[in-house]
Amino acid sequence: MSRRVLVTGGNRGIGLAVARMFADQGDKVVVTHRGDTPPDGLDGVRCDVRDPDSVEEAVERVRRDHGPVEILVSNAGITRDGLLLGMSDAEFTEVLDTNLVGALRVTRAVLTDMVRARWGRLIYVSSLTGLVGAPGQANYAASKAGLIGLAHSVAREVGKRGITANVVSPGLIDTDMTSDLAGPRRETLLGRTALGRAGTAAEVAAAVRFLAADDAGYVTAANIPVNGGAEVG
Ligand code: NDP
Repeated sequence: MSRRVLVTGGNRGIGLAVARMFADQGDKVVVTHRGDTPPDGLDGVRCDVRDPDSVEEAVERVRRDHGPVEILVSNAGITRDGLLLGMSDAEFTEVLDTNLVGALRVTRAVLTDMVRARWGRLIYVSSLTGLVGAPGQANYAASKAGLIGLAHSVAREVGKRGITANVVSPGLIDTDMTSDLAGPRRETLLGRTALGRAGTAAEVAAAVRFLAADDAGYVTAANIPVNGGAEVG
């Protein structure tokens, strides 16, 4: 059955792979983008998740053109790395505002329709870093850990309405976000994975596909690691 899907940050990287996966299986996908044009072959809506009005307008546009969102993939995210002692409040809150509060805004915008429909899938792209932390990423790790708490709380609030809320936590995935991670730092990270390689955006999309499926209806408040068997202890 074809579903209506909204993917935030679906114009590139993991979000784009997720959007293409849904489109390939016949779902109606809309991606958010901040630039002028959406990716080839995909419907797009301009949206900055830091701006509450922009989020409301984007979700309203999807509702008007296609109908209510049934599956939300909250994927938009940024990094602003720096060691804690030198990290300004602005650098901390910008990442929280985008990665965590942005996810809250989009969830609020789609949730009433899901409650009415008594069906919905909320999928949040967190990170291995949200579980284990990383030097220079206190802001990012806090935002990603917060997403897990957000997802698990939403799952408990709306579970009885047939809505599931789950998290996918990727490890090192080759995208623009990680393109400047090279040399010994990259080798160290890869050395801590069982598979000894970085993951692909498509491999994250595969976990999202499972969580979005009709027959994943008894999976909620879960966190699926897609990290190549990273050491988390
Ligand atoms: P990219 O940097 O390639 O893509 C990030 C996406 O988020 C872009 O589409 C970007 O849009 C969008 N975005 C950023 N800020 C906003 C905003 N304010 N409003 C709307 N959209 C925004 O990163 P990835 O694809 O690698 O990351 C996707 C998600 O996966 C992120 O949440 C990231 O934290 C997470 N993740 C990534 C990992 C990795 O190793 N790559 C590992 C673990 C988690 P625009 O093009 O306009 O900038």
